[in-house]
Amino acid sequence: MSESAKRFDPLQALSRTRHEFGEHGGVNLSVEASTTFTVLSPETMPSLFEGRKGPEEGCYLYGRHFNPTVYVLGRQLAAIEATEAAYCTSSGMGAIAATLMQLCRAGEHLVAANTLYGGTFALMKDYFPRTTGVTTTFVNIEDLAAVEAAFRPNTRALYVETVANPTLAVADLPRLAEIAHRHGAKLVVDNTFSPMIVTPNLHGADIVIHSLTKFINGASDIIAGAVCGSNEFVGSLMDLHTGSLMLLGPTMDPRMAFEITLRLPHLALRMKEHSARAMLFAERLEALGQRVVYPGLKSHPHHARLAALCNDDYGFGGILGIDLETEAQANAFMRTLQNDENFGFLAVSLGYFETLMSLSAASTSSELGDAALDAAGIRRGYVRMSVGITGNVEERWQQLERALRRVGALGGRPAAAGEAVAR
Ligand code: PLP
Repeated sequence: MSESAKRFDPLQALSRTRHEFGEHGGVNLSVEASTTFTVLSPETMPSLFEGRKGPEEGCYLYGRHFNPTVYVLGRQLAAIEATEAAYCTSSGMGAIAATLMQLCRAGEHLVAANTLYGGTFALMKDYFPRTTGVTTTFVNIEDLAAVEAAFRPNTRALYVETVANPTLAVADLPRLAEIAHRHGAKLVVDNTFSPMIVTPNLHGADIVIHSLTKFINGASDIIAGAVCGSNEFVGSLMDLHTGSLMLLGPTMDPRMAFEITLRLPHLALRMKEHSARAMLFAERLEALGQRVVYPGLKSHPHHARLAALCNDDYGFGGILGIDLETEAQANAFMRTLQNDENFGFLAVSLGYFETLMSLSAASTSSELGDAALDAAGIRRGYVRMSVGITGNVEERWQQLERALRRVGALGGRPAAAGEAVAR
């Protein structure tokens, strides 16, 4: 990895973006809620439609095209991701679908990691072939020869997640970028699990995608996404004839953009705390002999890789996996944590300030089906836990340990329903 990549600090990059004052000098920017924009002279209109004038020149056309408030959030995300530009979408799926439809023409081809968020997997495996004829070859991205072999002359992109959902496998971004580029394809990286922690663009990614619904927003109250990339690519998404954001229309509402700009200033603090707590729990779980998956642990097969990709000081992320013996035991564990211990919520999604936990095979990875779950190494008792940042951390640990003991995961017999477990 290059020295410049190692020295990059997304917090500093964010703080260097121009501060946007509100219309009346407010310390927060104003929400530009208009869906349409005036031009002083009718002659300006054609230049907007032809793309000769745009937000760079302070010219706006229509709310489904660029909007000033959404544009500010895009600039801030571009700073964090070290890309030239970014624009925001109404969901992470909107960002992924728009990006891939922009890169591929009908009937072309993608190569993708075989462990991906279930929605992304379904989009590529089931939806695209039906609607666009775009097909995907899913590969184990640890096997670089298999990745290489999956490329075809019409492959337009290699798609991976920096830290994969839910296995927490870490993509070898520099080597994957090299393969994609050798085949004239783009490396598209979903960085939803690791904002600020990894900056994929500094390791060879061409386009970086986020579900802003997760850590970046942090409050589980907004569905949103973003595409970060070159000026040329982000501009192409808005082309009035061929732009998939402009024409399919999943652009972000300015009110949502405003909300998210208020969460970015404490993203770094949150990420550090999520990481610190996940690390503490992972170390203690490992010391208890529990099967725990966390790339911050030296025992994780990709620990060194993530350590090399990481920006300094943000840790290894807020997600960990606890691999319980059976689905029944995992369900009992989550039920106890939520209903008896008030430790967190049995719910999908991640990046919330409270802990969220779900059984991957039965929820956000269920789209994969049995064969793909096995290929991705997702066991049926695997609990994905997005570690929250509320409450006293020692008390949280005691809750976690008690729940494991109660379901018999630490040896001993499981407690019977209603039986007290020593507090
Ligand atoms: N990417 C990853 C890694 C995800 O986990 C998810 C959702 O869980 C998405 C993308 C989709 O994001 P959204 O729900 O904002 O559409």
